[in-house]
Amino acid sequence: MTETRNDPAARAPIRLALVGIGKIARDQHVPALRANPAYDLTATASRSGSVEGVPAFYDIDALVTQGPKLDAVSLCTPAAGRHAIAAAAIRAGLHVMLEKPPTTTLAEVADLARLAKDAGVTLFTTWHSRAAPGVAPARAWLAERRIDAVRIVWKEDIRRWHPGQEWILGTGGFGVFDPGINALSIVTAILPQPVLLRAATMDVPEGRASPIAATLTGQSGTAPVTADFDFLQTGPQSWDIEVDTDAGCLHLAMGGSQLTLPGEEPRADAEAEYPTLYARFAELVAGGLSDVDATPLQLVADAYLIAERRTVAPFAF
Ligand code: NAP
Repeated sequence: MTETRNDPAARAPIRLALVGIGKIARDQHVPALRANPAYDLTATASRSGSVEGVPAFYDIDALVTQGPKLDAVSLCTPAAGRHAIAAAAIRAGLHVMLEKPPTTTLAEVADLARLAKDAGVTLFTTWHSRAAPGVAPARAWLAERRIDAVRIVWKEDIRRWHPGQEWILGTGGFGVFDPGINALSIVTAILPQPVLLRAATMDVPEGRASPIAATLTGQSGTAPVTADFDFLQTGPQSWDIEVDTDAGCLHLAMGGSQLTLPGEEPRADAEAEYPTLYARFAELVAGGLSDVDATPLQLVADAYLIAERRTVAPFAF
């Protein structure tokens, strides 16, 4: 287990291994780690993927038994199977950062929180969209407003953003909730009141386990909340949240990157989601703290509990 080292200048870099070298590990985690002197990307664990110049191991067991000395792992595998990987890492005394969604079930994330606490290591369930630049100012602005209605429209092209990722439509793959949970992570961060679901629909392609489209209806306080998730959106992509208030409509676009407040021009500050997540993880490790929030996962679980399921045409990548 890593000691808590309180003087940032004296702190040695966190020796971190990335587990699951796929799209998000390559696109975001590796650049964010390489740009942050608080980290040393010491190893990877992936059955076929690797990062040039970094010692590679087949899986978590090979990593912890044969790999170099580590302080932490960051898991970029799909959520299905992540509980076992994270539990093995915690048992090895490592701090753990999880891609979203943290696990496939609520009991799994609660179990990891318990294991991490007992082992005295940090567990961080990341929600990268919450680190989008429009989210914190949106939360601050909404805190002083009456919320009248919330509309989420999250429509993207599965073939463009998840090419060949068969797991995403498989059991525990989340389907369209894989991107949709990002919207839920934002609304649960910016709205002053919790979101409660009242109804849902899920369209599951014939022969697949997870939905390719979904709708949600619910409320936050007395304000109606709707969400429209679609994985078959060609042409312009939509990652939009609108919140009607007593002071006009707030619009978060581009997945939380662009904020428009009533009567103002759109603001799109530089995106730094993954650098922000790794800065936060380093703080948590240094402080001996964990940050575990399963609220967006709970909403997806609730949707699965109440949804009307419809079988739709088969889907092929
Ligand atoms: P991906 O491209 O399929 O990469 C995941 C990697 O995990 C695979 O390359 C695979 O590497 C490894 N893996 C281990 N067990 C696996 C299994 N049972 N099935 C498939 N792969 C397995 O997926 P990704 O897009 O990077 O997404 C990974 C996680 O990041 C997901 O939770 C997703 O929600 C999240 N995420 C993705 C994006 C995005 O834009 N793609 C954005 C933000 C967050 P080996 O074959 O080498 O083991």
